Amino acid sequence: MEEPGMVVHPDTFQMQLRELKRHFDLVSLSDWLDARDRGEQLPKRACAVTFDDGWQDNYQYALPILESERVPATLFAVAEKIGTDFQFWPNIVAGLLAEGYGQRLAQHPTLAQVMTELDLSRAVLDRERVAKCIGTLKKLTDSEIFAALESLEWRRLCGEALGTALMSWNQLKSMQASGWVTIGSHTCSHQRLTQALSENALEQEIVESKRILQQNLGKPVDLFCFPNGDYDPRALNLVREHYRAAVTTRRGINRAGRINNHELTRIGIHDDITHTARLFSARLSGWV
Ligand SMILES: [Zn+2]
Repeated sequence: MEEPGMVVHPDTFQMQLRELKRHFDLVSLSDWLDARDRGEQLPKRACAVTFDDGWQDNYQYALPILESERVPATLFAVAEKIGTDFQFWPNIVAGLLAEGYGQRLAQHPTLAQVMTELDLSRAVLDRERVAKCIGTLKKLTDSEIFAALESLEWRRLCGEALGTALMSWNQLKSMQASGWVTIGSHTCSHQRLTQALSENALEQEIVESKRILQQNLGKPVDLFCFPNGDYDPRALNLVREHYRAAVTTRRGINRAGRINNHELTRIGIHDDITHTARLFSARLSGWV
């Protein structure tokens, strides 16, 4: 069960890598940073591929394609959730809606505070409405949402349909060992790093995730990715202190001379809007 607008079919992904290779120099983000630090000449049009979270299907489908196309990538892993049966709350919500539990969601006392105007009955559910529901819930904190979902006993209602989301440590290690994938941190638990977190919790998410990944992977981890692209000055400062670079979900191209290492922009892609070469290049050009 995927959150709308988040997946790419393996065939699409392969086509996209081939298209990218025609127009860009595909670089590993960390090699590019190294080269820049050494003052080397950088490619005119460099492009770095990134993956967020550590989904098992990245291992299953994306890794063989990265290898066969010889394209480097960075994968930002949720450190404490790798190798567990963790589910991201937007996927739980999508799963509950697909199974017809929209009314139960909408009537939960915590969720009801923000979900007043959405009709979530099964008959009217389309991708847009699912996405809108997820967007609306973001007014609550991650822990409020998880507490509500736990009390609804989501595992019993839709756990089976969701399957396993994240890869195992061995799979993550295999990604790294392939030589094509650099692992970065995407926090410990994927909480949004905004005001709602205490200083301690923030420190845990940013600093402890790095330690866990380094310990398990046996390599330095110095790249970071903000969950949901959210951060405030407090989070940004801590990330600056502990990482050499960080990526956001803000859309855009990082232009020479104006690159902010800890607020790198990206261009998100998903199958609906990028499944042909023409759509893909329109997306990259900023037309869609
Ligand atoms: Zn994420």
